[in-house]
Amino acid sequence: MNELRQDFPAYDTADGAFHFLDNAATSQICRPALEALVEFETNDRANVKRGVYARAERATNAFASARKAAAFFINAPSPDEVIFTSGATLGLNTAAHILQHHLESGEVILVSELEHHSNLVPWQLAAERRGAKVRAIPVTDDGRLDLDKLDDLADRVKIVAVTHTSNVTGAVTDVARLRSFCDATGALLVLDGAQRAPHGPLDVQALGCDMYAFSGHKAFGPTGIGVLWGRYDLLDSSPPFLGGGEMIRRVSIERSTFAPPPHRYEAGTPPIGGAIALAAALEWSMSQDWAALGAQERDLTEKMLNGLSDMCGCRLYGPTGTQQRVGVVSFELEDVHAHDVCQLMDSDHGVMLRGGHHCAQPLMDRFDTVATVRASLAPYSDQADVDALLNGLEAVRRKLA
Ligand code: PLP
Repeated sequence: MNELRQDFPAYDTADGAFHFLDNAATSQICRPALEALVEFETNDRANVKRGVYARAERATNAFASARKAAAFFINAPSPDEVIFTSGATLGLNTAAHILQHHLESGEVILVSELEHHSNLVPWQLAAERRGAKVRAIPVTDDGRLDLDKLDDLADRVKIVAVTHTSNVTGAVTDVARLRSFCDATGALLVLDGAQRAPHGPLDVQALGCDMYAFSGHKAFGPTGIGVLWGRYDLLDSSPPFLGGGEMIRRVSIERSTFAPPPHRYEAGTPPIGGAIALAAALEWSMSQDWAALGAQERDLTEKMLNGLSDMCGCRLYGPTGTQQRVGVVSFELEDVHAHDVCQLMDSDHGVMLRGGHHCAQPLMDRFDTVATVRASLAPYSDQADVDALLNGLEAVRRKLA
């Protein structure tokens, strides 16, 4: 058994048939995050930035510390550049809202065919508001961004918004190449880190991006919390996205003036317990040996890829090797719908998978399909999970094909 499971309460009571391979959708919460949540909700629960009593001050201090921990996890220059959101989706919508103020009519937002809808629809909406255009970097047959096509797409590009890691193919984006492209064109670079954040600490400064978003629930934290990081000058260049309490300086009936970032973008009571628990999850992540966990993930990914490519009637999508990818593997069984595969794998084999378009319909179009099955690993995954996946699929294939 993978010893790391001791850090994950979901495995305390799980029996041997618990094979959770839907980590790209939501991973399991780690024990420090759950304990931090219980501790806050039990002993420190109060609203932040308002109360003058000790309990409220403890809550406010814990929330401020959570922002520092999130900044540390991504190596942000300042915690004031960290906005707590409900997840990557709100983060990317906020990024699109902010950066639309830098867009002129006719300019281009460059996304990719690989994007989750959360990093596509907000840019479409922003483009519509500003009279701008959305264009896409194509995807190679093995599910990576085709960066050789970048030069053809350089005309009037103002924003490049792409995934750091694909939720369908597991491909990790070559950010350095995108950074050079942005340097040459003067474009701003936004990364959707929803699938990268679960793979250890990040360095937004080394990546050279201008904004970065991720969700807590995929990175061993609670649901309902996420992070948007942005360069302070960009955060300070835009009016707020949402209005409400705690994001203002002064309000009269006619007009309002606004607080500086990050508070300008955190209208209303923030997800206090979520932020505190996320900080604990990020600290747990920072305490792990990611070189060893990466090697373990590559080993299990290779076993999945080998088993699936040997399986009769199984079509794999995405990179066939283990370099520059994470353990997110998409495939189809010939003549069997992905939902049927997932249902049988759960009911008959105790393997939890995801089937569908994965909120990436343009990519499904690119691959000329409507749905794939997806198996996704986490640091607590082990050989028994992969064996259950491959044996179960073989049985499902024989039953249904
Ligand atoms: N981006 C990617 C690549 C994702 O995989 C997801 C979720 O699956 C999201 C964005 C949206 O994340 P959330 O639903 O947590 O806001």
